Amino acid sequence: MLAPPSFDAPVEAWSWCSCDRIKRTAKGRSGVLQLIEAHNHHRTVCPLLNDAQEGRKAA
Ligand SMILES: [Zn+2]
Repeated sequence: MLAPPSFDAPVEAWSWCSCDRIKRTAKGRSGVLQLIEAHNHHRTVCPLLNDAQEGRKAA
């Protein structure tokens, strides 16, 4: 998850995950906020991240 340090327009953000199941872009403050929400949600359901929490750490 990368987001600009400030929300000065125009803003753009990328979201991706090691599992490769989520790759999204967002533009605009509301879009970026939605992207962050979606990414945070994904982290709770991501099979790869949940796998990593079971004792082994990804390099
Ligand atoms: Zn994932």
